[in-house]
Amino acid sequence: MLKIIGASCVFKCDQDFSILQDGGVLFECDPHSSSNQILKIQDFATLTQEYPHLQATFYSDCVLLPAFSNAHIHFEFSNNQSHLLYGDFPTWLSSVIAHREELFENLTQGIQREINLQLASGISSVGAISSYGYDIDPLAQSPLRVTLFNEAIGSNPQALDFLYQNLLERFEKCKILKNHKFSPALAIHSPYSTHYVLSKKVALLAQSESVKLSCHFLESKEEKQWLYEKNGWFQEFFSHFFKVANAKPTMNAHEFLDLLSNLSPLFVHCLFADDAIFDKISQINGSVICAPRSNRLLNGCYLDLDRLTHVKLAPIFSTDGLSSNYSLNLIEEIRSAFFGYAHLDAEKLAKNLLLGITRFPAIALGNNNGELKEGKDADLAIFPCCGIQTSQQKPLHFVLYAQTQVKDLYINGIGEYTWKQ
Ligand SMILES: [Zn+2]
Repeated sequence: MLKIIGASCVFKCDQDFSILQDGGVLFECDPHSSSNQILKIQDFATLTQEYPHLQATFYSDCVLLPAFSNAHIHFEFSNNQSHLLYGDFPTWLSSVIAHREELFENLTQGIQREINLQLASGISSVGAISSYGYDIDPLAQSPLRVTLFNEAIGSNPQALDFLYQNLLERFEKCKILKNHKFSPALAIHSPYSTHYVLSKKVALLAQSESVKLSCHFLESKEEKQWLYEKNGWFQEFFSHFFKVANAKPTMNAHEFLDLLSNLSPLFVHCLFADDAIFDKISQINGSVICAPRSNRLLNGCYLDLDRLTHVKLAPIFSTDGLSSNYSLNLIEEIRSAFFGYAHLDAEKLAKNLLLGITRFPAIALGNNNGELKEGKDADLAIFPCCGIQTSQQKPLHFVLYAQTQVKDLYINGIGEYTWKQ
């Protein structure tokens, strides 16, 4: 079963950001196939002449591009609206601990709402950080392409066996649910919150199971002080919340990276990483994921993208969870980021923001999507974008004017969301 769709403008999201005017895509759409792929990308008129018997739809005043990937999201924090405090990291983290219980009340509805929002926002793929496992079933049953990062956290030496056992149970459950759209994976919360012994076990497990690994890393200046100078606010934090007197970090930043050196890990935030850290991340084939609005709310700054470029790391943009954002819509996220990075060349930044939610996260998550190319999975999104036909700055105008709700979304060649006005 084959289908053709086309639009006034097609963004291939290849390395050169090729754009096709009045382009079309021929793709497989067999409902029983686990791998419906893109077969041809061409001028829409030529494609429909070549395959006159096929169903073909053309979207005027619209952009057709690869469906988006939200590489870092916490569905389990979907209930937060005004429980948590913003402005600086210590205030925020303390408010998370204080409100933990109430944030998880009646969670199923909130998780489902945000799954639907991902689909409505043109997102086909998510990298979901799962701290407790509440999101496993709803995500496995959703149409989304999911990398489910089962997270380990905890620094109390007496609790490590229990915590690892709990992680294994969640991971085993995910392995049973594994299919072409659901990939089990692992996460270490961060080097400040996860004991070295537990982190090492998780890294070894990721290696032996050949699964992806994600972690928060150097998100705050307090974390940097803790890992490098072994003092500061985190000492107070462990004493106040966990009654540990004279707590010390169980590893430094470089020891943490050494643990992960064979895993091509995904590092989230890295706001306070220095050049030596970025160098090492690049050497171990890691990826860096930004969450600009989360960074603004918790740490009052954005990641310096020039420093990533310097070590040939491609920027990836994600929303993080509702614990540190007001919306998990990716177009809104990159629109905010566009205005946050006022010093960068506008047209170049617009292209990078779009590649940062398509091509680059697909590579980091190990998915065969994120680019319109023969042989890639047919994960496609169509967005209304008034005036795009005549625009001389198409990527930039898309970032500014695209509707934030997708018109049609295809995942694995199947229509999974249609905007009903
Ligand atoms: Zn996060």
